[in-house]
Amino acid sequence: MNVDLHSHSLASDGLLAPAAVAARARAGGVDVWALTDHDDVSGLDEAAAAAAALGMRFVPGVEISVTWRAEPSHKGTTVHVVGLNIDPENAALADGLAAIRAGREDRARRIAFDLEVAGVPGALEGARKYAANPDLVSRTHFARFLVEAGKVPSTHAAFNRYLTEGKPGHVAHDWASLADAMDWIRAAGGVAVVAHPGRYKLATGNLNRFLAEFKDRGGAAIEVLTGSHTAAQYNHFAEVCRCFGFMASRGSDYHGPGESRVDPGDLPRLPADLTPVWQGW
Ligand code: AMP
Ligand code: MN
Ligand code: MN
Ligand code: MN
Repeated sequence: MNVDLHSHSLASDGLLAPAAVAARARAGGVDVWALTDHDDVSGLDEAAAAAAALGMRFVPGVEISVTWRAEPSHKGTTVHVVGLNIDPENAALADGLAAIRAGREDRARRIAFDLEVAGVPGALEGARKYAANPDLVSRTHFARFLVEAGKVPSTHAAFNRYLTEGKPGHVAHDWASLADAMDWIRAAGGVAVVAHPGRYKLATGNLNRFLAEFKDRGGAAIEVLTGSHTAAQYNHFAEVCRCFGFMASRGSDYHGPGESRVDPGDLPRLPADLTPVWQGW
């Protein structure tokens, strides 16, 4: 069974409509598929209908932006927590996600201001043009605008030169707390999964502290196989699952043609001794 539990659509920073992502997943041989847009569930109805029409099992999901602090004085690190099998109608979850999206609006203005100072005018309007969901402007939309404006040759270069920490289009931002994100996922009946744990800018000790706190707060699983991990990281995070007693997840983090290393479903199998997060569904 091919299970892919992480992907994006036009409801956040993907390039395709939910139904088109479903079709890509099915074409890639996926049997069980989750749409997990950033901080937004507005694509889930279309995704569910499309998956049903394609004979593919659908799992409603969301990828929540979180700021985690190792201690109160820590400046905070952005981490992503995926909620799977959530009820998108749940009020606590819906209200929490709406608050994150409101914060994104303010952040987009600050990013645009910084870019203007750095000699790139019109970035807010420019990024908005790429954001099909006007409620959800992400750095990815700024990256596409920076390519269009001729400032960089690729979205990858846009992140390297402008949109990451220490660069002129990067601003500090407080996302949801880990406690709140976990509460919303639990309230919505979902399972919490740490997205791409290999990608965070945390020293090993702090990553372990984060994972321990995630587990204490009811966290069930981490992504082992993701388009963001190298083959060495597949092995490493399989071992992390064994040490912490986490279930394992698998997801491409597909964003659309030309913007993703991995197509939906195109990942290895989970090691046989790990418990898949979808076991028992
Ligand atoms: P945001 O939530 O607005 O900070 O945007 C985060 C998104 O930017 C991620 O989900 C990725 O899709 C994208 N992203 C982050 N870093 C990079 C990178 N180095 N290259 C390409 N895309 C990136
Ligand atoms: Mn993204
Ligand atoms: Mn992510
Ligand atoms: Mn993602």
